[in-house]
Amino acid sequence: MSTPMMQQIAGLKREAGDAVLLTRMGDFYEILGEDAVRAAPVLEIALTLRGKGTDSETPMCGVPHFALDSYLPKLLAAGFSAAIAEPTAKAEEVKGLLPRAIKRIITPGTWLDDDARWLCALHRSGAAWGLALLQLASGALRVLPGEGEEALRATLERITPQELILAEGAADVPDLEAARTRLPAWRFEATRARQQVLAFFGWQHLEGVGLDPHPAAVGALAALLDHVEATQKGRPAHLQGVNLELGASGPLLDATSARHLEVFANGLDGGKAGTLAALLDQCRTRMGSRLLKAWLEQPLRDRAALERRWAQVAWLTEDRRRGPLQTLLSRVPDLDRLLGRVALGLAAPPELAQLREGLAVLQKLPELLKDEGWAPEVADLGLWPAETPLCGPLLAELQRCLAEAPPLDLEKGGAIRDGVDAELDEVRRLARDAKQVMLELEEEERRASGIQSLKIKYNRVFGYYFEITKANLGAVPAHFLRKQTLANAERFTTEKLVAFEQRLLSAEGDQVRLETAQFQRLLALVLEARADLTALARATAALDLLAALAERARLSGWTRPELGEERDLVLVSARHPMLESRLGRECIPNDLTFTAAQPMAVVTGPNMGGKSTFLRTAALLVVLAQTGSFVPAELMRFGLVDRIFTRIGASDQLARGQSTFMVEMTETARILNQATSASLVILDEIGRGTSTRDGLALAEAIAEALRDLKGGAPRTLFATHYFEMTKLADDARVQNLHVEVQEWEEQLHFLHRVAPGPADRSYGIQVARLAGLPRRVIQRAQRLLAQAPEAPPKAPTPLQPVLPLFEPEPDPLRTELEALDLSRMTPLEALNWLAMRQGRG
Ligand code: ADP
Ligand code: MG
Repeated sequence: MSTPMMQQIAGLKREAGDAVLLTRMGDFYEILGEDAVRAAPVLEIALTLRGKGTDSETPMCGVPHFALDSYLPKLLAAGFSAAIAEPTAKAEEVKGLLPRAIKRIITPGTWLDDDARWLCALHRSGAAWGLALLQLASGALRVLPGEGEEALRATLERITPQELILAEGAADVPDLEAARTRLPAWRFEATRARQQVLAFFGWQHLEGVGLDPHPAAVGALAALLDHVEATQKGRPAHLQGVNLELGASGPLLDATSARHLEVFANGLDGGKAGTLAALLDQCRTRMGSRLLKAWLEQPLRDRAALERRWAQVAWLTEDRRRGPLQTLLSRVPDLDRLLGRVALGLAAPPELAQLREGLAVLQKLPELLKDEGWAPEVADLGLWPAETPLCGPLLAELQRCLAEAPPLDLEKGGAIRDGVDAELDEVRRLARDAKQVMLELEEEERRASGIQSLKIKYNRVFGYYFEITKANLGAVPAHFLRKQTLANAERFTTEKLVAFEQRLLSAEGDQVRLETAQFQRLLALVLEARADLTALARATAALDLLAALAERARLSGWTRPELGEERDLVLVSARHPMLESRLGRECIPNDLTFTAAQPMAVVTGPNMGGKSTFLRTAALLVVLAQTGSFVPAELMRFGLVDRIFTRIGASDQLARGQSTFMVEMTETARILNQATSASLVILDEIGRGTSTRDGLALAEAIAEALRDLKGGAPRTLFATHYFEMTKLADDARVQNLHVEVQEWEEQLHFLHRVAPGPADRSYGIQVARLAGLPRRVIQRAQRLLAQAPEAPPKAPTPLQPVLPLFEPEPDPLRTELEALDLSRMTPLEALNWLAMRQGRG
């Protein structure tokens, strides 16, 4: 037998679908049945039984209502959505079971936390595809039409949405880390989709937004809007329109390169620690941090825009200008998120108070930028656009109406100030001063009737009444209404007393009702000001971020980059930004000179010598510079880069367990197809994932293809352990560089310094010693090398390199030995190998 409660839950569960249903019961959100079994381990809470021993026994777990926000991320991270059911009436208003309804469904893409989450819908039609993207917190809505699976994958990898909406039966996007939501295919269908989009925004046609030529994108947008309506139980008011991003020329940095360079996630655990983004994020507001991510994703390719950003940053590097600004900004809340919560009907009174405080702080900002006669410079630099609205009227109204420290819960009362609403004041006065009002009423009637003993009394059955003794009954005024007769007295009421009583009893309810109405009015004002608030948030974020970049430049002694000739890349004393922040002065600076005449370099030298770090440094400095940041170098002069391509050889990525030779070659092929003479190409040990002969041939062919690119070779850094590659420098467009080492008492010392010319040999044996190969094995290997017909290798002397690289008649044993990739062998494997050769030789 099922209880009414269980029937209610079953109904809600049908509506919730796959989402885990959390039902508010008293102070807890309860999860029942199968959901409880699924959710308890994820939430790390105890699973118990509800109605134990009865027919309706069912598994149950629960979380305290105030802790909901700390439990939800766990559910979402595990790929679940959560349906939140709340009572729709108050306990005192209903007999028996409280009615309940699902208020919202929280999915991985619609959770409002501090991160920049993207909810994404994809629709394909032939080769064309359309993406619709929503950041629910800020209301940012983007539509990206495009063509081809390759471009689709690159776009999605760059955006990294948390949730991807697809039509049932439609092809998925392999390897994309995002929760999947499947919606019926008809929701994406062109005609229906068009109607949904028009209806959602109240538009007449789609031409205005330029969506007409992109039916696939309209399909995606419609499905996304459907999902938003279904999960938010309505149309969020802050979704004001669509930003159509056409022909996005692609990001400067694709997702693979961003990963290799550790721009957003480190290679260790995918976290933010140690990344370029973390290093730059001196932002004082969440808005600034979010904008940083956007700027790093889409660095500039426009000279004027870049020069302007550098100038803005330069101006802010002065502490006396930046300091006070940052102090002020640190008190500004996330306006986007607050606006989003208001639009979604989630904002509680303290959040409006936060908005008020934030707006109050921001009023002072323009003044601060005018200090010491700065106004003209600030205006010139566009640090704070003159037309930026400060939302003064909204602030004034919030200050006038909203209590100093309003309660979280409107039911508690006290969210609205006195003097805002006459009726509310009266209701409050009544509640607060009930005694006084009663005494006044008593006094009034006593005077009118002349009965000195007239008193207002109260009991629970009859409520309030006047009691008049028998002796005084003759003087009872005509407007007294008899209520009850006792042995020696009678009880009366009056219209006024009845009214007083009713108002007193309902005063509390009235107060909540009136305060709620006032609060709703304030919310509506916030929504009316949403365009201004968004503009204000944008200006604040930009200023905050520029100040953050300036602060980083100041803290780390970075310099302003310069634009040079088209294919220049000149670095003097360049340091890897994250390595420098970790090592300080121990990070060795290096130089690089690329020009249109010689835009390529082959970097050789032993493992652990610093090749990869050097390559990454060059790429990271370009990213920094084109983001508008200063750079860790004494000098950087360069021509704008249109795209950065990086390819890291398979073995350097083995830890991630994701790369195979095939992947490596596919991605390299992509570089060959897409790189232009304005690109920067970083190829680190490519060809490693295959046998020496194949790898060498491929690496060489790839380097040559880049060198001979129509329009001129892209700036290319090529790190390789194939010494044969150094002969590429026979061509004037290619230079040889090597990382320096010193040998001292049979030990290798890495200087991490990059010098001209090729390395003279591979140092494989010394590196093997460093890796802990037994001494016997090392010595034997050295003997084997020495037995080779040609002279023993010269000890390396930095700055005096270049031995002949190709022996006319190479000794087969030596060739075999050199072909060994010692960095990938275990000591035992090496030992076995040696034993085998010894046996043969
Ligand atoms: P390779 O690619 O030649 O094998 P890496 O670039 O991976 O060498 O460098 C190996 C290690 O050497 C790095 O992890 C880093 O700790 C150190 N290193 C590299 N370059 C520098 C440098 N310029 N200054 C200080 N340490 C460095
Ligand atoms: Mg390397």
